[in-house]
Amino acid sequence: MLETASATDRPYDLLIVGGGVNGAGIARDAVGRGASVLLVEQDDLASYTSSASTKLIHGGLRYLEYYEFRLVREALTERERLLKMAPHIMWPMRFVLPHSKLVRPAWMLRAGLFLYDHLASNMTLPKSRAIDFRTHSSGRPLKADYTKGFVYSDGWVQDSRLVVLNAMDAGERGADIRPRTRLVHAERVNGLWQATLEDRTTGTTQVVQARALVNAAGPWVARLLADTLKIPNSKSVRLVKGSHIIVARVFDGPQAYIFQNPDKRIVFAIPYEQKFTLIGTTDIPWKDAPGRVGIAPDEITYLCESVNRYFKTQVKESDVVWSYAGLRPLYDDASANASAVTRDYVLDLDTQNGAPLLSIFGGKITTYRKLAEHALEKLAPVLPAVAGASWTANEVLPGGDMGEGGFDAALARLRRAAPWLVPSLAWRLLRNYGSRAYEIIGEANSMKELGDVLGGDLTTREVDYLIDREWARTAEDVLWRRSKLGLHLNEAEKTKVADYVKQKTA
Ligand SMILES: Cc1cc2nc3c(=O)[nH]c(=O)nc-3n(C[C@H](O)[C@H](O)[C@H](O)COP(=O)(O)OP(=O)(O)OC[C@H]3O[C@@H](n4cnc5c(N)ncnc54)[C@H](O)[C@@H]3O)c2cc1C
Repeated sequence: MLETASATDRPYDLLIVGGGVNGAGIARDAVGRGASVLLVEQDDLASYTSSASTKLIHGGLRYLEYYEFRLVREALTERERLLKMAPHIMWPMRFVLPHSKLVRPAWMLRAGLFLYDHLASNMTLPKSRAIDFRTHSSGRPLKADYTKGFVYSDGWVQDSRLVVLNAMDAGERGADIRPRTRLVHAERVNGLWQATLEDRTTGTTQVVQARALVNAAGPWVARLLADTLKIPNSKSVRLVKGSHIIVARVFDGPQAYIFQNPDKRIVFAIPYEQKFTLIGTTDIPWKDAPGRVGIAPDEITYLCESVNRYFKTQVKESDVVWSYAGLRPLYDDASANASAVTRDYVLDLDTQNGAPLLSIFGGKITTYRKLAEHALEKLAPVLPAVAGASWTANEVLPGGDMGEGGFDAALARLRRAAPWLVPSLAWRLLRNYGSRAYEIIGEANSMKELGDVLGGDLTTREVDYLIDREWARTAEDVLWRRSKLGLHLNEAEKTKVADYVKQKTA
């Protein structure tokens, strides 16, 4: 069925293709400046790269080796801002970096960390320092060969929740957010974009008009240009797969580890979901079409070997309880080596052939907010609707207004307001939803009033919220993107969640 835009339908100011972190960030910023915005995402929000990252809000210590000072400075500045914008889903983390003589000399690490500590102004996280593993508690899980190292600060983010919160905020400010909607065709007609959208749930198509188009299709950015829009472009994207494994917790404590490999790459081991350790990542050039990707057996071996070089507790392939992989859509700067390709982003504005088209190549989760600002600054001269002042630097994301005293004080308040909440649930609700936890609890006065328990501490009330407010439509959306409860529930519980979501969304 084709529904066509009638001449009276008002064009959107901006049609954004891609519901990853960059598309969602641009939608939020643009609608806040007064533009009318439509965002389409072919699958669930954050279905691809933006849920497959290492989940670090970081300057990127290793990028200093490639002289990416602009990117690192911008990322470090953003790190501070983001930690304030969403203190529920982001938190500071200390990273332990053992010195290994075989890889980089200690003076080089010290110099890099000094730069990292000082490259941006107004940094509030604790600075780096040298540590002796023979006396420091972070040395306990390490092999005795490692006696010295450093510790420095960065941040952690629940990546797919960051995307959803940006989309929610955009939606609450008036943007039209449409997951499961694919742009199948678009062309310039009389100075506007005329775009055909396919609703992937119903199979229907609809034609809409927009003054400008943003191509935030991540790994699909070049294909969208060449195949869907039929627009030649000299810039290209380099797809580089990165994979992670999850194993039962290998070490105690809140700190993460960053290990140097003999191939000069680095691999992180990060405390994950209370009971687990997240290990990643790899850099594998990807030549096939974008889409769902998985980890290869040799990547699992590589990641196990990377941590086994340092930890006393050895990890083997059969210990892996879950893995995920994603494609980095990197701007192709013709580097010979996949690890060396720039992690900076390039915005390409095409106004020569009529209605503006902005394509985004590259970008990090960490820099998404600044990327959105840059994108709108670039569009503003040709799209007055987004010419308003930038505003996102100090505005919290939904749930981020947790009040005085940080997370711990907010948790204490929640526990006082709802003493009947199981403590682990109070903690999890606050970590995922911040102040919106109160919206989920609503008028309930007991665990029973939160509905049926589907598994662990997941109740039907929480799933209803995810369906009503966060566009969840499948068990996978609930278990692996809105949360990571998939790691904690057994198969029977997951089936219960799937049945409930199906019945609710039928
Ligand atoms: C292994 C790995 C580790 C990483 N680690 C970090 C990290 O620790 N910190 C950090 O800051 N960054 C990290 N990154 C980088 C970061 O994840 C990405 O730069 C970022 O997520 C890219 O977001 P995006 O919105 O551009 O792309 P995506 O998240 O892929 O979004 C693009 C979306 O466009 C949609 N789309 C495509 N075509 C269409 C169409 N025709 N119609 C509708 N929708 C369409 C897709 O479905 C997709 O969801 C990592 C990346 C990888 C792969």
